[in-house]
Amino acid sequence: MGCCDAPGLMPIETALETMLSRVSPVQTTLELPLPEALGFVLADDIRSPINVPPFANSAMDGYAVRLAELNLGQPLPICGKSFAGHPFKGDWEAMSCIRIMTGAEVPLGCDAIIIQEQAQVTEQGVLFTVKNVKENQNIRPTGDDICQGDIALAKGTRLSARDIPMIATLGIGQVTVLRKPKVAFFSTGDELKSLGEALEDGQIYDSNRYGVKALIEKFGCEAIDLGIIPDSPDKLKATFEEAQSLADVVITSGGVSVGEADYTKDILEEMGEIGFWKLAIKPGKPFAFGRLPNAWFCGLPGNPVSAFITCYALVQPLLAKLAGHTQWQPEPSIPAVTQSPFKKAPGRTDFQRGIYRIENGQFVVESTGNQSSGAFRSMSLANCFVVLEQERGRVEAGETVQIQLFNSSMY
Ligand code: AMP
Ligand code: MG
Repeated sequence: MGCCDAPGLMPIETALETMLSRVSPVQTTLELPLPEALGFVLADDIRSPINVPPFANSAMDGYAVRLAELNLGQPLPICGKSFAGHPFKGDWEAMSCIRIMTGAEVPLGCDAIIIQEQAQVTEQGVLFTVKNVKENQNIRPTGDDICQGDIALAKGTRLSARDIPMIATLGIGQVTVLRKPKVAFFSTGDELKSLGEALEDGQIYDSNRYGVKALIEKFGCEAIDLGIIPDSPDKLKATFEEAQSLADVVITSGGVSVGEADYTKDILEEMGEIGFWKLAIKPGKPFAFGRLPNAWFCGLPGNPVSAFITCYALVQPLLAKLAGHTQWQPEPSIPAVTQSPFKKAPGRTDFQRGIYRIENGQFVVESTGNQSSGAFRSMSLANCFVVLEQERGRVEAGETVQIQLFNSSMY
């Protein structure tokens, strides 16, 4: 596989396969009113209890006619009307038409609706100026969209804004969904301060915790913020204990690179098991995955860009699987011509940050600048990843690279 510059590092694909093969979806279901179910995953297929539309109705404002009478070419007096919510109720007299509006029930015996722009109202009745009226034209038949008993949405769908009106169309007001996975997270580091606190010498603001919270909520999970934990083995251990009792997944940031890693590793080995540690990706090499007695563990690197990217690229698919969101998939790669060079050494898959545009129908991309894993502006300015293959070296302007657009969790 040739990761000679990075011996012992696991490729991202292997890491993902390992993680996904180990976790299974949450089982607990809950019943929610449809308007509150946005972002939840369906626990069962949604089968339509009715035909949609439930009755044949007009697609246009116009006149309901019977073709046999229309062919005689005479004006047809208006015998009644069918409006939306007020169907025609009377007897439809021979040699007449019915005024009908969009969404109104089509009267029994009607073959076609002729739009009002193709009709002239005269004293003798309505004169139709159109030739070649087709059978059933402008009629939306019963069950045209969905038939009673059809699966309208499959189990495993994460309910989006598009799905809510779909279900409402069926008259279903309560849905059975899976509970959201719970994710407890904390930052580690003696140098970190929370927002609202003043910085002293040598201190920085914790940004990872806020980024992790935003992503977790965007991924459709419940976030449990356990704050900042100093680099003290006792405090770390106590927090791991608490976190794994509260959540399905525990996410930490920092303390996984050389040096500090030692106590995190010791604690994990004592409490559970480490699946892997160190991936062939950049940024994000010190990403760790493992098992605690009651929860999965994901250790994000401390550097803010590394933490954010590994949370997006590795934790997101894991949480999608846990959430039962079977339709989740990563964004596809798109070839783009780069307008800037990218520094790169063979050995790891790089997730550099880029800004893409479409010029003359072609994707082009440029770097967001300083690609240091500590420089979050490169992430904030970006609208895509420039994914540089593990074996690739330096990239020059004009070369074709693969870009991966962000999914909705980034916005
Ligand atoms: P570590 O993985 O703990 O060695 O941290 C690597 C780098 O990331 C150091 O420069 C840390 O100060 C920084 N860092 C760690 N955690 C955070 C955090 N939560 N927010 C911002 N920077 C952090
Ligand atoms: Mg640290």
